Amino acid sequence: MTVNLLGLGSQQFKVFCAEMGEKPYRAQQLLRWIHHAGVDDFGAMTDVSRQLRERLAQLATIGAPQVLRDTTAADGTRKWLLEVGTGNAIEAVFIPETNRGTLCISSQAGCALECTFCSTGRQGFNRNLTVAEIIGQLWHASRTLRAQSAAGEERPISNVVMMGMGEPLANFDNVVAAMQLMLDDSAYGLSRRRVTLSTSGLVPAIDRLRQECPVALAVSLHAPDDKLRNELVPINRKYPIKELLAACLRYIEKAPRDFVTFEYVMLAGVNDSVEQARQLVRTIKSVPCKINLIPFNPFPDSGYARSAPQAVARFRDVLMQAGLFATTRRTRGDDIDAACGQLAGQVQDKTRRGQRRVKAAA
Ligand code: SAH
Ligand code: SF4
Repeated sequence: MTVNLLGLGSQQFKVFCAEMGEKPYRAQQLLRWIHHAGVDDFGAMTDVSRQLRERLAQLATIGAPQVLRDTTAADGTRKWLLEVGTGNAIEAVFIPETNRGTLCISSQAGCALECTFCSTGRQGFNRNLTVAEIIGQLWHASRTLRAQSAAGEERPISNVVMMGMGEPLANFDNVVAAMQLMLDDSAYGLSRRRVTLSTSGLVPAIDRLRQECPVALAVSLHAPDDKLRNELVPINRKYPIKELLAACLRYIEKAPRDFVTFEYVMLAGVNDSVEQARQLVRTIKSVPCKINLIPFNPFPDSGYARSAPQAVARFRDVLMQAGLFATTRRTRGDDIDAACGQLAGQVQDKTRRGQRRVKAAA
């Protein structure tokens, strides 16, 4: 059986090279060919001896998920739909901005956590992505964008956010192995502040991340109190706000930034009143944070509506007047369903949750 080298974290890669009887520098050399240069053909590795190239061709492959669709939105946002087998597909989204390029990566096919306003959550859980499938999104996007860059840009992707489909902390080991490649100088060499993981709040896993791979942290809060959060983000019943905020404080001790980002999706008439903004201020005041207000991105039968721009502005004013820093996320790529929470891939709804909802509504 051959080994897919994209699936090896930095550590495993070193072991693989040692097992072949190669010196440690080989691991760096091969990682650079694969992840810096984006090569998928051993023959192209010109400073590797022919003997070793032939051995590698027998033992190993370099295989990312196949691209099913490649779409670019009017604002330049680009979405790749990637095949991950047995009727599953996932999505990666590139968001170009003036001073940076951000790739939004998926960690699971579907998601088990069932947040009520999220299209991925609606589909139910299918499976965890492998390391090759997670890092393969960055590998594919980097080499494609670099090859197509008119300005010959060396590094079109300056930031990675684990904010695509799935709950990254529910696929902990694979996500951490992939993020370690993102940070590895021989692979993508991104600094910890330029890799952000977004979680709905799996408290024990936040603590583990703090120990094993403290990257920038974003936490999906979405409600100022447990009653509403229990409804919108059901995992809150297991890890309520108080415990979540305590975990955030612990995380900040090791984090590459001295704050966490709270994400707050703005749902009309649900969590967007001035009183709720005041309550939010009281709830989070002990945690150094920035707040990112995300206008809700609709999808069919979501049952929610996006807050009016005035409601978002009012909500933000309350936070800012209380001394908190809040930004409103600009919606990107919504004409190709690439905006937050719209990622659906083509994962079949194995839970038949969609059908149950239709029946319940009838
Ligand atoms: N599972 C992780 C990361 C993926 S979702 C998490 O929940 O944090 C990335 C962000 O998009 C989260 O803050 C999520 O709550 C938000 N989101 C989900 N559905 C959305 C929608 N329909 N509109 C706007 N944001 C949404
Ligand atoms: Fe899963 Fe995040 Fe969607 Fe919740 S918001 S269902 S945790 S992907």
